[in-house]
Amino acid sequence: MNLSQIGELSLLEQIRKKFEKKSRNILVGIGDDSAVLKPINNNLLVTTDMMVEGIHFNLGFTTTYQLGFKLVSINVSDIYGMGGTPLYILLNIAVNKNTDVKFINNFFDGVKDALDLYKTILIGGDFSSTDRGMALSATVIGYVKKHIPRSGANVGDRIYVTGNLGDSACGLELLKKVNNSIPLLQTSRKKQRASRLRYLRLKSSKDGLSRNTVDPLLRRHLMPKARDPKKFSLYATSMIDISDGLLIDLSRICNESKVGARIYTEKIPISPELIKAACCLAISPMDLALSGGEDYELLFTAPARKNIKAIHIGEITKSERVIVDASGREKPFTAEGYQHFRNHK
Ligand code: ADP
Ligand code: MG
Repeated sequence: MNLSQIGELSLLEQIRKKFEKKSRNILVGIGDDSAVLKPINNNLLVTTDMMVEGIHFNLGFTTTYQLGFKLVSINVSDIYGMGGTPLYILLNIAVNKNTDVKFINNFFDGVKDALDLYKTILIGGDFSSTDRGMALSATVIGYVKKHIPRSGANVGDRIYVTGNLGDSACGLELLKKVNNSIPLLQTSRKKQRASRLRYLRLKSSKDGLSRNTVDPLLRRHLMPKARDPKKFSLYATSMIDISDGLLIDLSRICNESKVGARIYTEKIPISPELIKAACCLAISPMDLALSGGEDYELLFTAPARKNIKAIHIGEITKSERVIVDASGREKPFTAEGYQHFRNHK
């Protein structure tokens, strides 16, 4: 059954049932002209982010379940990036009216699992039909006692990240490679996706990459998880979530804080999966870790004397922005990238 057959009203009824959540702070949730929320005793955080088919995702790569999960994750990540806690979410969706209802239900399953993970409640949204690609947008409302801005880094602070970098970009490269080398068959998207995945695994295993290497990289790209900053948010002086790549997002902190940064290649966390897969793709794993986007790890600074449970990758400097390689050589970096060390060997 497709959307035009089931109709918006009955779809909304299903969503309302699926997401029925009682909370003392929600006086009215899904179902009226507006949600009604009790005020809270903290500063509010509000953020929104959209995903458009053909620009941010390709339905030949991703399931709608993964898409729903990712839409929530990338929005929650912006709340975490301020040191906050997410509370509520609104979802706007534009899809073709011939879309199968199953497709939408899978999307909402992904949304639901992510909302349970981040303990966030769906309080409303809107549907529209479109005769073009699918467009998705979410708005998250959260709170914070004291927000952590991009502008608070001080000279001498240490620079930290919360996890491995480059995996998501590597996952995307793997997917793109398959897309370019497998002919498009006239079958359903689901079958196409399954055959691409089979082909990707087969081809990768011929290149010496097992499923245990490929799958985590794909998952990182298709279903990223946002990192909760609670463990260190008390000490962080500046913070940002890494959506566009370490060098771009570190440059944003430097620009806003009017400081520089020195980071060490040896300290950048790179997964063993990335090293193996990047080698097969003939891409430098360090390039992916420094410039690849969509890892959604947090990047933050904190005073050196604090004991921080995260990965220390460098220091804030007065103005110079450099990467130091294993042998101690320094190369300047900008948001656009860095001079390759290997050209100078
Ligand atoms: P209106 O026409 O007054 O804007 P709608 O008929 O679009 O209201 O929506 C009815 C209710 O269902 C509202 O509470 C709205 O927030 C909720 N809703 C609509 N679309 C979505 C969606 N995609 N996700 C969650 N809630 C939704
Ligand atoms: Mg409406």
